[in-house]
Amino acid sequence: MPNVIVIGGGASGIVAAIIAKRNNSSVTLLERNNRIGKKLLVTGNGRCNYTNADMSLDYFHSSNKKCIENVLKIFDRDNTLYFFERLGIMPKVEEGKIFPMSLQSSSVLDVLRYELERLNVNVVTGAYVTEISKKKDFLIKTKTGETFHADKVIISTGGMAMPVSGSDGNGYKFAKEFGHSINTPTPALVQLKLESDKLKAMDGVKFEGSAKLYVENKLVRKEKGEILFTDYGVSGPPILQLSREAVRGISEKRNVQLEINLFDKSIDEFRNYLIKRFSYMPTKTIELGLIGLINKRLIIPILKEINLDKNKLVKELSKKDIDKLSHILTDWRFKVIGDKGWGQAQTTAGGILTQDINPETLESKKVNGLYFCGEILDVDGDCGGYNLQWAWSSGYVAGLNASK
Ligand SMILES: Cc1cc2nc3c(=O)[nH]c(=O)nc-3n(C[C@H](O)[C@H](O)[C@H](O)COP(=O)(O)OP(=O)(O)OC[C@H]3O[C@@H](n4cnc5c(N)ncnc54)[C@H](O)[C@@H]3O)c2cc1C
Repeated sequence: MPNVIVIGGGASGIVAAIIAKRNNSSVTLLERNNRIGKKLLVTGNGRCNYTNADMSLDYFHSSNKKCIENVLKIFDRDNTLYFFERLGIMPKVEEGKIFPMSLQSSSVLDVLRYELERLNVNVVTGAYVTEISKKKDFLIKTKTGETFHADKVIISTGGMAMPVSGSDGNGYKFAKEFGHSINTPTPALVQLKLESDKLKAMDGVKFEGSAKLYVENKLVRKEKGEILFTDYGVSGPPILQLSREAVRGISEKRNVQLEINLFDKSIDEFRNYLIKRFSYMPTKTIELGLIGLINKRLIIPILKEINLDKNKLVKELSKKDIDKLSHILTDWRFKVIGDKGWGQAQTTAGGILTQDINPETLESKKVNGLYFCGEILDVDGDCGGYNLQWAWSSGYVAGLNASK
């Protein structure tokens, strides 16, 4: 049975190590931090959304979806639920998102660590791998000068999101040295920066609405839910979902715009509502006339944006004024100028191209005995448990095949 070394003790590396060991390999897991699974603890706001009831491929992104499809066929959501139930994690479903019943991500890490211990996997922490070379077998060197030999190596060093957790993109170097190509990594599931002089005034305002993303004036994606204005731009689940395409668009120097719809209603529906609403309060100023409809802190910025005098009486509003108001409340356009960066991003779009990797085994097509799994690959998912599902599934496939 081969001697397998797994580099990177995050979600995917831990599962790869467990599976390789269960299949009788001798397994060493090398982790640069003084503990494994640091990022897992913060997933799902500390609750760990570890998979999802809906496993459509539409929620995954890559330049080669075939690889995702294959891997998910081998180890899917049900395999994941079974794997974790056997370790003690009972699932709890909330609107399709699946969490541990305890609602604690630390329970997921605890049971994984216990399983590594039970199987006697050799977990070496404080082992920052700096070199991997291959002659007959693999030789791995760490920053502190330790060396390890292996028949098979699994690289699971993560992408670039949340670098304080240990995943700072250093693993791409190993892939490049072995002749692999990288699809340029960009932050995904990240807050967006907008161009507007109204943001400071609206900082902290939350609402249930919708957002549409346009790249070069073409609608790319629409998302609904709770949106939050911040002093730099926007945040909230719908924005995180749109961010992948926004960041990619900006990195390609395209014109990226966000349409905010404060009510997720059509302009016509809203115009009719406003006309009716204003008929109840003709003698109010427009500033007062909007109270109770939108957050008070949005009223002045919105009126300024459309150059409407806040003291104008509702009964004096022209058809054009009502049109402008209906328009901005249902289609407020902002230029997207950036994102909050790797420190805030939840995942990485891009990574090692899976075209150079066997989609059945996750073994490199360039180097025998070398495997990859997790976020380091050119695969990312939407919010909702899809990134962890990819980590578990790819970790399983790499661990199983490395142990053969
Ligand atoms: C705040 C936040 C919340 C999230 N919430 C969710 C969620 O609820 N659901 C979901 O599906 N996804 C979530 N994600 C995404 C998900 O956590 C990741 O996609 C997943 O953990 C990636 O697993 P990985 O094993 O590929 O990489 P990582 O978890 O990043 O692990 C990589 C490991 O490799 C180690 N390492 C790196 N370089 C070296 C080296 N040279 N030598 C040795 N060790 C090294 C790192 O220290 C790290 O421990 C969240 C991410 C963040 C940041």
